[in-house]
Amino acid sequence: MKSYPSAFGPVYLEETFETLISRLQGMTYSKAFIIADSNTAELCVPLLSEFGSGLDIKVITHGELNKTMHQCGITWSWMIENGADRKSLLLNVGGGMICDLGGFVASCFQRGIRFIQIPTSLLAMTDAAIGGKVGVDFQGNKNYIGLFSNPEFVWINTAFIETLPHAEKVNGLVEMVKHAIIGSRELWEKINSIENINQIDWNELLELSIPVKVNTVNMDPHEAGIRKTLNFGHTIGHALESYFLSSDNPLSHGQAVTLGMLAESKMALNAGVLSENDFEKINMLIGRLLEPAPIQVPSFEELSPWMARDKKNTAQSLSFSLPTGIGSCEWGLTGLDPAPALEWLKEISFR
Ligand code: NAD
Repeated sequence: MKSYPSAFGPVYLEETFETLISRLQGMTYSKAFIIADSNTAELCVPLLSEFGSGLDIKVITHGELNKTMHQCGITWSWMIENGADRKSLLLNVGGGMICDLGGFVASCFQRGIRFIQIPTSLLAMTDAAIGGKVGVDFQGNKNYIGLFSNPEFVWINTAFIETLPHAEKVNGLVEMVKHAIIGSRELWEKINSIENINQIDWNELLELSIPVKVNTVNMDPHEAGIRKTLNFGHTIGHALESYFLSSDNPLSHGQAVTLGMLAESKMALNAGVLSENDFEKINMLIGRLLEPAPIQVPSFEELSPWMARDKKNTAQSLSFSLPTGIGSCEWGLTGLDPAPALEWLKEISFR
């Protein structure tokens, strides 16, 4: 068992389900509810055994398109119908979509009820469930409506990964690679030694990856400074994700961030803050392990409205967090031109 104290509630990485049950039995609440998506309700909630089966479950159709205010309204109505009150407890059992939405639902219901994040995707275990950001997408803009809110705790168990599809494992590995590049050479070495994604000891990687996120948010809970390093790959990544959201081939968050990390590493090279040697290492590892999606890369002109709408940027200036080596990152870099890096991405893309 590992425990990571965080500014946004403790994070536990545990190997048996009994520990969760005993933590829950040690709490007082009027009634507990589960929010899950259509996959995690079937595959993950049963792992909570009789504790989970005794609770009312709100099942939301899986997928990012359901991370909406509309779904929040439906869920609040369901909670009221099922007798939720200010002393209720919400268990969010799912990937980042459910943890973001469920955390937001709990935080607004009657000015806030307690909630527990039980991330079931690798991406949520290493990133989305940690750090207190909850919210929903709005009018095609990612995570536009939301707040910082502390769960009682985040409870991680890698047993959930057994049913996770391959593509979702890669999506989680993407954020681990990001953590390695911005803050952990040790994690980088571990990831670099991976030969087969199906033979990874996920506990070993999470033990190195979770602290990067936890320590970064502890140093800067409300993203005034160093927490921005977690946005590496996300300025271009989020813009690509939004750009393709309503197309026939939407990009997953992980796929978008993979391309974002490639382009932003190239920007770091072009800006002279990253060496050619480290750029090549990053480029090679991403190409080998993260399966970059072959997309029709949009031009900077096509993408810039989406970048400007990213809530981390002001209308006048785009701000980037770029790697300065393997295990280090600078934030708040402005006045950079992403166009050459996007052109390069277009050249290496396969479609
Ligand atoms: P997701 O929740 O949509 O899960 C991806 C898919 O995996 C879904 O189809 C889900 O049903 C399925 N799934 C999850 N766990 C499973 C399991 N154990 N077995 C089988 N299938 C399973 O997406 P995600 O990749 O987990 O997270 C992405 C979301 O997280 C985005 O909405 C993103 O904005 C958000 N996010 C939030 C933060 C934050 O700080 N709050 C950080 C990063 C990402």
